[in-house]
Amino acid sequence: MNEIAKIVSQIIDLQDILIVGHIMPDGDDISSVASLTLSLKQLGKNCFGSIDYKIPDYYKVFAGVNEIRSYEELTDFTPQLIIVLDSSSPDRVGRFEPMLSNHRTIVIDHHATNTLFGDINWVDTSYAATAQMVYTLNKVLGITYDSELATTNLMGMATDSGFFRFSNTDERLFKDAAELVRFGAKPYFIATTILENKRPEQMKLYCTMINHMILEDSLVYSWLSYEDYLENNCVEDDSTGFVSEMRALKDVEVAILFTEFPKNEIHVSFRSKNWFDVSRVASILGGGGHSRAAGCSFKDAELEDVMKEVVSLTKDFLQGGVK
Ligand code: 5GP
Ligand code: MN
Repeated sequence: MNEIAKIVSQIIDLQDILIVGHIMPDGDDISSVASLTLSLKQLGKNCFGSIDYKIPDYYKVFAGVNEIRSYEELTDFTPQLIIVLDSSSPDRVGRFEPMLSNHRTIVIDHHATNTLFGDINWVDTSYAATAQMVYTLNKVLGITYDSELATTNLMGMATDSGFFRFSNTDERLFKDAAELVRFGAKPYFIATTILENKRPEQMKLYCTMINHMILEDSLVYSWLSYEDYLENNCVEDDSTGFVSEMRALKDVEVAILFTEFPKNEIHVSFRSKNWFDVSRVASILGGGGHSRAAGCSFKDAELEDVMKEVVSLTKDFLQGGVK
């Protein structure tokens, strides 16, 4: 039996199902959790979706997102099955992590750095988005798509492919997206909600990032300190997508953005353009991701120290020509 068939058989057999996404959720993660939860409810399952992290408000207009529960709301729920989505390692699920070792767990993910921590692991890096894997699974499960579910599901495919621009954009992604559009998904609504919904304060924060930018050969990096967020009346989510804009620079191969929020908690976002595998650097630093988009985090750290360490490590890899 292949992994999809095994997953289908578990879903059919079991009634109480918890669907979990990752901390610092992105569009793909939120789309995947909301879409699969709506779908399994359609099958009559006693099913809850949860993410142990704040979900940015602008995602709440997508069907199913408002029903994603917090960790606290589910402490009394005893699932027979946990499905973990878009998470490359168990620490990505936040406080749900200890539950994984004593519950039947299915992992559905497209990250090359996945540690295969489930009882069943459907990990396939050829998918542009976990939301696309959810769509593939839903077709086997015979889920009916209305315009709302189709839009929620398409949102993850759009965001994880940079709106069909990144190197993971292929024929199958367009085909799956086209099927969802046929079911009533609204690409224009997704694009305007995600891309054209910025507060003026975010634009000012963006200027701060551009002002801090340092360009050294094919590497560009910048930072936003906790003070920068406070001065611009912003929170961490407000800088989502900023790092990709630095990659737009001519002749740049690697872009890195260091964000400190709150004080002494630093997230590092890596992006590359043509050949450099940023997930290798992120993995060495305790994080993970994809070859062209990866990240890692540091706690109780000084922004300047993290920047020095990460920039120097990245340069070693870049100068060594390591792919
Ligand atoms: P971002 O830079 O947008 O935060 O993340 C880019 C990619 O790297 C995403 O696919 C995300 O899941 C992954 N990623 C970001 N931070 C971490 C981390 O701390 N650990 C792991 N394993 N993956 C990360
Ligand atoms: Mn993803």
